[in-house]
Amino acid sequence: MEENKHLIAFALHSNSWVYGIGSKEQLEAQSIQVVPEDFTAEMKGRVYCPVCTTPLSRTPDLKNITTNAVTAHYKHKPSFSHINCRLKVQKKQGQLFKNEEEAKKAIENEELVVVSSWQLAPPEISDEDEELKEYERTPIEDENGPETEVAIGRHNGEEFKLPSKIKNIGALCKDFDKNIHRAYILPESRYMKVLKDALNPTSIVVDGFDKLPRLFFAKISNYKRLTHRNIIYVETPNLQEFKLYTYPNFDERKHIDSTKIGRYILFHSDIEWEGNDIPKSFLNAWGQYGLLPEKYEKYLPKK
Ligand SMILES: [Zn+2]
Repeated sequence: MEENKHLIAFALHSNSWVYGIGSKEQLEAQSIQVVPEDFTAEMKGRVYCPVCTTPLSRTPDLKNITTNAVTAHYKHKPSFSHINCRLKVQKKQGQLFKNEEEAKKAIENEELVVVSSWQLAPPEISDEDEELKEYERTPIEDENGPETEVAIGRHNGEEFKLPSKIKNIGALCKDFDKNIHRAYILPESRYMKVLKDALNPTSIVVDGFDKLPRLFFAKISNYKRLTHRNIIYVETPNLQEFKLYTYPNFDERKHIDSTKIGRYILFHSDIEWEGNDIPKSFLNAWGQYGLLPEKYEKYLPKK
């Protein structure tokens, strides 16, 4: 099967680990994360899938790199086609699990995350946490959401009720390398996607865009403080500007201000319009957006 969508953000490179002998935990402990652009000849045969751990190949091959216009990406090897992996493109949207039991097990193993909604308000801060950045604070258990009906079975029209969580995109950004290959069902969607595949560039926003909420990644281009709201401007190639309206106290705790121009933000929202050509989103919930640490920017999809 052709993997036309590039779901593998990075491979795990190790000179000592051997597929079929070492465990996944050992691979994670003994390896480094390598994006396809940083792959070198010495790594050939020694890069592995971060999910199923089978050996990967890099495309285009190093000797063809100057003649081939294809974006560099990793592929599973055909000799391991019998191994299931969610980073192999599925034949049909969302068809990943045989039954409810399999899906529930994936949730327990943190391979699948059902997000029913984003946290509305920030967690309380204890005195000792006060000086810490939002990233450094003691993680707080995600609250449980309602059982959510989702279509992820291999049979047509099959729906399961699965336990869900109320999440925060800020926390998702903090451990972005662990999250990028997880499968997510995002609010107001019934289908699951690997996070890398669920991330949309702002270039998809054009005049007449539909109202469905989506997860976006975008570079901050400007920042304005108003009395009751702030505006984070993000880059958008097709339109004049793109405005994100936020609350000053949320931005402050997330350390988002004019010094973060040039950094990337992740947000999940529908889009409204100012006139015909200025898209805007109201990020009213605490968990609806977060600043991506710079070290993870290389794992974002190529626009
Ligand atoms: Zn794999």
